[in-house]
Amino acid sequence: MRSLITKKIPISEEEKRQRVRDYNEFEGANVDEEEFVKREIFDEYVELICLKCGHKDEIEYDLLLEMFEFDDIDIPELECPFCRGGTVIPIQFLDEHKRKNHK
Ligand SMILES: [Zn+2]
Repeated sequence: MRSLITKKIPISEEEKRQRVRDYNEFEGANVDEEEFVKREIFDEYVELICLKCGHKDEIEYDLLLEMFEFDDIDIPELECPFCRGGTVIPIQFLDEHKRKNHK
C-alpha cells in the first residue's frame, strides 16, 4: 500500500486519563497517570471520500492498516456505508483517480 497522509489529532487530557486507567485496569499495567497525561498523544486519521456520492469520512489509521494488512494493494478501497455500492478511497488519491478515469 502506498503511504497515506494522515491527520493527527491530539487527544484530550480526559481521554488520556481514561486510556491509562483502562490500560492499567485491563492489562494489569502500572503506568503513572500523571506522567502519562503530560505526554503529547495523537490519534491518526485518514480522510476518505466516496467516488460516487462524495460522502466524506474518516477512519483511524491503525484500523485501516489492520484491514489491509494482508492485501497486496496500491490504494485501499472501502465500500461506502452511505450510498451503498460507492467506492471510498483516501481523499489524497482523488485527483489521481479522476485523471485515470478521464483519459
Ligand atoms: Zn457513497
